[in-house]
Amino acid sequence: MDEYDVVVVGAGPAGSTAARFAAEKARVLLVDKHREIGSPKRCGEGLTLDAFRDLDIPLDKRFINKKIYGSVVYAPGGGKIEIRYDEPAGYIIERKIFDKFLAAEASRKGVRVLADAYATLNTVNGRIMGVRIRHQGEEREIKAKVVIAADGVESQIARQAGINTALNPRDIDSCFEYEMSDIKIEDPNMIHAYLGNKIAPGGYIWIFPKDDDRANVGVGVCGGERETAKYYLDRFIKSRPDLRGGSILEVNVGCIPVGASLKELVRDNLMVVGDAARQVNPVHAGGVHNAMLAGKLAGTTAAETIDSQDLGILKRYELGWNSSKGKQLERILRIRYFMRKLGDGDMDYLTRVWDGGDLIRVSEGDWGVALKKMAEHPRLLKLLKKFV
Ligand SMILES: Cc1cc2nc3c(=O)[nH]c(=O)nc-3n(C[C@H](O)[C@H](O)[C@H](O)COP(=O)(O)OP(=O)(O)OC[C@H]3O[C@@H](n4cnc5c(N)ncnc54)[C@H](O)[C@@H]3O)c2cc1C
Repeated sequence: MDEYDVVVVGAGPAGSTAARFAAEKARVLLVDKHREIGSPKRCGEGLTLDAFRDLDIPLDKRFINKKIYGSVVYAPGGGKIEIRYDEPAGYIIERKIFDKFLAAEASRKGVRVLADAYATLNTVNGRIMGVRIRHQGEEREIKAKVVIAADGVESQIARQAGINTALNPRDIDSCFEYEMSDIKIEDPNMIHAYLGNKIAPGGYIWIFPKDDDRANVGVGVCGGERETAKYYLDRFIKSRPDLRGGSILEVNVGCIPVGASLKELVRDNLMVVGDAARQVNPVHAGGVHNAMLAGKLAGTTAAETIDSQDLGILKRYELGWNSSKGKQLERILRIRYFMRKLGDGDMDYLTRVWDGGDLIRVSEGDWGVALKKMAEHPRLLKLLKKFV
């Protein structure tokens, strides 16, 4: 039997970051069920500059496809809001290389990384002893003092520990994406998002340029819709002369948990991070930055726990997250619920009264200024006040 202080299940951004920070004071194993870490990618690959700064990640050419100077959000009636910066505000990355880079960085800090290792929780008389892994046909038991569940949106590990992870289908965005080439992108230095109840109910269509003529073109729609995400994306592409002649280089399908984050992030000697804990921005559905922030906090807390041999310290991760970032995500969730009630005409109205700054503030959970600008629309104001 192998023995570690900490075993991390899932080598996505949350898991590799948690492992990297835990390794400062602990012996760490990081396992992933896929044969290749980072693949298949299920991502639009947009990441803000803040994420690189917060996690001290270099802007390495190997995983940066394109510098992004802002975003354009299009309402169904043709109105739009543009947020443009003089300097790059974000990047379209290559997740397959980025995720592998994060895992390699963890291994440089002393983490043992193992791909092609499917994990299940190992409990004995209700006590979490570690995990069992199936690696290349061989079953192994891994004993660990702390288990970190970073196993993404389909997380089983937290559920196996008894945490209630059930999700309402309305709180899951169902996504479909093509990486397309030989397309015309109006402004390849910007990301583009298209809203509308007919275009993408409860979500949006995105064009995230990876090159001047190549982009991730995808859609997220609210779970429980009659039509599939693929239906909405194909229909959009067909309607657009700039896209419909393009080639398809890759097809991605996936889900994003956009409802309330898990409140119970620690149970006994188990911690839950990233999509497994639904730490995603419910408005734009980006989750990589939060996954890494949570991974850092969880990993650092696990390291302190091992160092002090006091399991009680693990709860500091839950308290720390829930009292800061978790609170912000709760405010953003209310904005999502408000947006889900908007008609197409309401979206058109908002693109007339809000500017780029308002949109950023709203997507970060701060609706004060935006609310004031809606003073001349009593019905919408009343609706917003119901949620915020
Ligand atoms: C179509 C789509 C587009 C998106 N676009 C963006 C975007 O542009 N920007 C953004 O910030 N976010 C985006 N997201 C969200 C983002 O991809 C996730 O929030 C992010 O990957 C979460 O990181 P994570 O480490 O928590 O989980 P994941 O990246 O999902 O990693 C979980 C890992 O756990 C492994 N695993 C699962 N179960 C087991 C097991 N039992 N044993 C071993 N390993 C296991 C998996 O193989 C996987 O590697 C998008 C999501 C989708 C689906």
